[in-house]
Amino acid sequence: MMEGRPLAERIRAEVAEDVRGLGDVGLATLQVGEDPASTIYIRLKHEAAAKAGFRSVDRKLPADLSLNDLVGEVSALSEDDSIDGILLQLPLPDGVDEAAAVVAIDPPKDVDGVHPFNAGQLYLGRATLVPATPLGIMALLTEHRVELDRARAVVIGRSDIVGKPIAHLLLQANATVTICHSHTDELARHTLDADVLVVAAGVPAIVSAEMVKSGSAVVDVGINRTEAGVVGDVDPSAAERAALLTPVPGGVGPMTIAMVLQNTVRAARFRRGLLAFPQTRR
Ligand code: NAP
Repeated sequence: MMEGRPLAERIRAEVAEDVRGLGDVGLATLQVGEDPASTIYIRLKHEAAAKAGFRSVDRKLPADLSLNDLVGEVSALSEDDSIDGILLQLPLPDGVDEAAAVVAIDPPKDVDGVHPFNAGQLYLGRATLVPATPLGIMALLTEHRVELDRARAVVIGRSDIVGKPIAHLLLQANATVTICHSHTDELARHTLDADVLVVAAGVPAIVSAEMVKSGSAVVDVGINRTEAGVVGDVDPSAAERAALLTPVPGGVGPMTIAMVLQNTVRAARFRRGLLAFPQTRR
């Protein structure tokens, strides 16, 4: 199993060391509405941030907040000198213009890499601030020495925070990448060819053992709350065919939290001039 917790703990310890060196580092999270899963993710991020020595600010906003007010909240944090990183918990409630809210994040503070500037940098092969979940997946693959150069990689899912960015990171690592989505016919035709398979569909057991290539590395990003508890997108019996498989829970989830913290340290370095943030014209 590609366990996420031990590696995430190591990264969090390194982050704590970095925070001690940097002094006061502020991370702000914004949650709009009361989606229970988002509430859990935000709580876990704050607990981890506190342990690593960050000063964290937790803004909870009502679901019926006007777009103007939401943009105002995000802009205020963007301009607040005591805040190094801003995390706007997605998805926003139905009807809220996500794109308008996201562009109000100052790009050097965008610790989830969702601003079009940072997404564009990744697309251009100049990763600057990259979404946390794909960064965590890459760290796990590196930790387990999964060869990506010349590998065939298949990603199921094309969301802006998981599918698309992980496909770009795999491409930059010289894998040959196929992206599957809900309009892909015969998923198994693609998955059976995958040396590295990343599944981020949000559909329990969308990948069965028979769909997995023998000896492959399989990353299960899915978090699905079912009557049987939290399950991933990959049937656990896939472990019999895969050489490596991430567990759910305990695989990608802990890595995501660790990488949000690592990105916040990176943002703090950008803001202090310890790392050069690419020139933008706003
Ligand atoms: P999302 O925005 O809902 O995207 C799901 C993607 O899967 C879409 O691109 C969709 O295709 C595709 N898809 C859905 N049904 C499919 C099917 N039957 N066949 C092929 N593709 C299908 O979800 P997300 O935010 O990327 O998250 C995906 C999963 O990962 C969720 O379970 C989420 O909870 C979990 N997640 C976990 C972490 C973590 O830290 N472990 C972090 C983020 C997300 P279309 O584009 O065609 O609709």
